[in-house]
Amino acid sequence: MSIDRIRISLDDAHELAERACLSAGFSPDHAAAIARTVTAAERDEAVSHGLFRIPFYVRALREAGVSPDAEPEFSQTAPAVLRADCGYAFSPLALERGTPRLAERARDTGIAALSVVNAYNVAALWPEVERLATDGLVAMAYTASLSYVAPAGGREPLYGTNPMAFAWPREGRPPLVFDQASSASARGEIQVRMRDGDTIPDGWAIDSDGQPTTDPAAALAGAQLPFGGHKGSSIALMIELLAGALLGDLFSFEATEVDRAGTGAPRGGELIIAMAPERFVPGGDRAGDRDDSGPGDRAAHLTHAERLFERVLAQEGTRLPADRRYAARKRSEREGVRIPRTFYEELRSLAR
Ligand code: NDP
Repeated sequence: MSIDRIRISLDDAHELAERACLSAGFSPDHAAAIARTVTAAERDEAVSHGLFRIPFYVRALREAGVSPDAEPEFSQTAPAVLRADCGYAFSPLALERGTPRLAERARDTGIAALSVVNAYNVAALWPEVERLATDGLVAMAYTASLSYVAPAGGREPLYGTNPMAFAWPREGRPPLVFDQASSASARGEIQVRMRDGDTIPDGWAIDSDGQPTTDPAAALAGAQLPFGGHKGSSIALMIELLAGALLGDLFSFEATEVDRAGTGAPRGGELIIAMAPERFVPGGDRAGDRDDSGPGDRAAHLTHAERLFERVLAQEGTRLPADRRYAARKRSEREGVRIPRTFYEELRSLAR
């Protein structure tokens, strides 16, 4: 279906998002952090986590009991474990402030974790891992969401769409990053298709009778499917345990129980792990050249990784994850972004 779209600059996108958040009652720091997060996603054509999310943030603030202004509180629970208690606010501010602290800890201890708890998270995970890898670290992130996905063989939603992200630093170019739901698609991808009058691919969801469907509305009313059957199902289960039981926060089904207004804003935790490559091989400059002369040569790890990337790219039809986003980023920085005109009007009215 062809829809009327309007082109706006990234500055305008940021301003619209920030004003909508301020009008809704978010504190200036939260409004700015949310606006930076959604503008970055819109810029990278990660549309389901871009401006599209602003009405969710606004509605969740009004109806889900999200804090508009809680400042993240940081503490250290072990030498290599930091905790950010978000006080039931959205997570972007804690993530922006927490990742530099995590990077510092990881450089010191070799590996460190940031446990982000009592947060609402409706964002993609690549911003935090990309930021850490840009800072020279290997990073991973995991979060649960709301009960949307049937476990392999089941028909009822239980797991969240539970994404995980991974980033690897590269010398002189942006990091390698992947960020993927453990379901066949993110929920936002189905919602965007419903908004735009499109169907969804086979294998994404079943309807409420347990039958395969390509109708986004039937999929949202039924259950999403894990990617790769039992394999994606086990990854979703692992993420429930890491972001829920390990951090002392909610499972997706518990987050659904506390979202009484059905806003779709998931309350819970996010686990981020950062590793300093130079801390993994003592001295020397390659795996195998071992001595005890202190941290290893970071550049050697990175050069070694490039050999793998070259082999991947030598095969026709391949690309590295994040390359699509980086290409979109360059394009959007030059040309701005295109959003449906009706949606632009909705954002303008939220921003008043
Ligand atoms: P996709 O399936 O679109 O992409 C997953 C990853 O695979 C991306 O890193 C993508 O890179 C990469 N990729 C895609 N095609 C190729 C290819 N041909 N070769 C190599 N790499 C490729 O993402 P999902 O739909 O699974 O998830 C979308 C987003 O939703 C994620 O950012 C996730 O964090 C978010 N999400 C958030 C949730 C929350 O509760 N906060 C819940 C669930 C999902 P590229 O970006 O360059 O295309």
